[in-house]
Amino acid sequence: MPKKEIVKKIEALRKEVSRHDKLYYQKADPVISDQEYDRLKKELEDIEGINPALSKQVGDRKGIGDDRLAGFDSFIHRAPMYSLDNTYSKDELMVFETRLQKFLRDGIKNTYVVEPKIDGVAVSLTYERGRFTRATTRGNGVEGDDITRNVLSIKNLPHNLAGNRHPEIIEIRGEIYMRNEEFHRINKLREKEGSTPYANPRNLAAGTVKLLDPEESAKRKLQIVLYGLGFCDLQTFSYQLEFHQALLEWKVPTLEHFWECSSMEEVWTVVENLDRQRRDYEYETDGAVIKLDSLDAQEEVGFTAKAPRWAIAFKYAAEQKETLLKDIALQVGRTGIVSPVAELEPVQLAGTTVSRATLHNQDEIRRKDIRIGDYVIVEKAGEIIPQVIRVVPDKRGDDVIPYKFPPECPACGSQLDRLKRDVAICCPNSSCPPQIRRRIQHFGSKAAMDIDHLGPAIVSQLVDLEHIQDIADLYTLHTTDLANLDKFAEKSAKNLISAIEASKERELWRFLHALGIQHVGVGVAKGLSRQFGSLQAIMEATLNELIETEDIGEIVAESIQGFFSQSNNRTLVERLIALGLNTIDTFGKQVNVSSIFSSKIFVLTGAMNKYSRREAGELIEGNGGKISSSISEKTNFLIAGSAAGSKLKKAQKLGVEIWDEEKFLKNLAEVESSSRELVREQGTLSFFEED
Ligand code: NAD
Repeated sequence: MPKKEIVKKIEALRKEVSRHDKLYYQKADPVISDQEYDRLKKELEDIEGINPALSKQVGDRKGIGDDRLAGFDSFIHRAPMYSLDNTYSKDELMVFETRLQKFLRDGIKNTYVVEPKIDGVAVSLTYERGRFTRATTRGNGVEGDDITRNVLSIKNLPHNLAGNRHPEIIEIRGEIYMRNEEFHRINKLREKEGSTPYANPRNLAAGTVKLLDPEESAKRKLQIVLYGLGFCDLQTFSYQLEFHQALLEWKVPTLEHFWECSSMEEVWTVVENLDRQRRDYEYETDGAVIKLDSLDAQEEVGFTAKAPRWAIAFKYAAEQKETLLKDIALQVGRTGIVSPVAELEPVQLAGTTVSRATLHNQDEIRRKDIRIGDYVIVEKAGEIIPQVIRVVPDKRGDDVIPYKFPPECPACGSQLDRLKRDVAICCPNSSCPPQIRRRIQHFGSKAAMDIDHLGPAIVSQLVDLEHIQDIADLYTLHTTDLANLDKFAEKSAKNLISAIEASKERELWRFLHALGIQHVGVGVAKGLSRQFGSLQAIMEATLNELIETEDIGEIVAESIQGFFSQSNNRTLVERLIALGLNTIDTFGKQVNVSSIFSSKIFVLTGAMNKYSRREAGELIEGNGGKISSSISEKTNFLIAGSAAGSKLKKAQKLGVEIWDEEKFLKNLAEVESSSRELVREQGTLSFFEED
């Protein structure tokens, strides 16, 4: 291949890998299977390996996928947190052993520990004098996000190490994961609410630990398991198995199964057995991790830039089946996004009959050149939603033509649009029937207005019988309207009407989220509510004012403005207000009470029990204070949580007033209670005061 072509290929593959890294590590929403990703990565590594000079010319490549997100504080690991090299082949496992021999002194006999590879999110827990102090994600391997607040809600998190044989400081590595039972519970709820189910427990666990709202995160039961030594201030362990023993003595959750093997042949037998056993485990495992047992030997062999040389993950290939793609159905979501779904000749896959698979979007169909009438490979790697991996080109018939996304909405016939800066195709008609049904389902869902008894079946009937056409119509329903609904007794009707009535008092952020504005999820809705304090202020905000809100960029701001600039949306909101829905954030900053926080400069350090630093910062700003990241003469207050370090010392030196968590919470409670008083005195701030 000419050099120019090779460079182009490297660039294209890197771009593709980096796109999938972002979807996987930061959005927890991958669009290709792990095996497909690993194939892509191997193709890149192979071509880079043969062409080192040309790869250099393209530039340096990131070592491992980076999971860090804006909104989290980061923390530098005391010892780097590496990924693992992986393989799907027995031969490569044997090569791993040969490579080890090269690095080890003659005469050292390798003993291995084989552990199940738990499919979750890597975490590093710090214990100081046996007490839990911090949880961090792997991040870029050097520095990870501080997720202590969310991890604190995990029930089996050990807050203390039992016994007294523990180092001053230790970083223990492990995995946060979700058991299958909890995963199914959450997905059933989502289905009831009419929302798309999560693809697999790993993605849901990854998304949950990165929720900016710890209350939301606490609603999903995660588990933690610890298996690895990161940093330890004393070299107290000589073997991985000895470390496992210490974990047991400390009474922390550790691996239920692991095996000691004295040869690679033994390792292989364990790997094969584990593949059968793991199907009965209550959690997902995607492979076996093979580690050198001796920590001295581990040190001798060392690390590459991204992974230890002393360990390898053998990954179990996901089950795949070939089947006929009979048709491509188009589903219209509540925001009008049209998603393509493959209708398949039913096929048995990983224990269930699969007859539909996601095709993600128009670009994915084009990229994989998927056509109706093709034979395709489908895969279900512990995933609920099967995916079409690729077509089988040799089996393509002559009459099979490229798939063309229709120009019109399959439900209402409106011209479809491609969303600006997005891959999604959208139906612009807000009266499109499936959109109406899904909008109403979303409005009443747990994360929005939380209206009990308003399941998808009820919504469909109410819409089909033309009792309701939009969300405002819900508030005009009478028990008599519900009398002729299928399987709906008088008592259920009364319950539903009172649940609808009760929802009028919900918080402003719920109302905002329930409106279904594109890109306005719970986090953004809470931010808007805090920043502006009332729906009226949000509707009148300029683009720049919206962008100044944390977590809101240009795309989200444009979406909010776009929504409120449409007259039908404004009319709808006006009707909802007239029907008596709450539109004020009673804790918001529209209530301008001068307080101890007003115009003062605050610095936050250490960990608090009740709030993360980011949340505490938001509360301070919401009450008129300012946040700075470093201590100076200008700082008015330092809020010091536990394990506060250099900032505390500097503040003491400069004579800055220091508040502990208790004092901060007390001052906050006082200010917020005066704000509520003021709101009560002002009465209901009428919504369209100026209109
Ligand atoms: P990895 O998940 O393949 O392996 C490393 C991780 O395994 C460790 O960080 C640790 O968290 C975990 N682990 C679980 N049990 C363990 C045990 N007993 N001992 C040690 N570690 C254990 O590596 P990675 O760097 O996190 O991710 C790379 C992989 O992620 C890829 O190979 C691919 O499979 C997947 N990925 C998929 C996509 C996609 O689009 N589908 C994108 C990026 C990455």
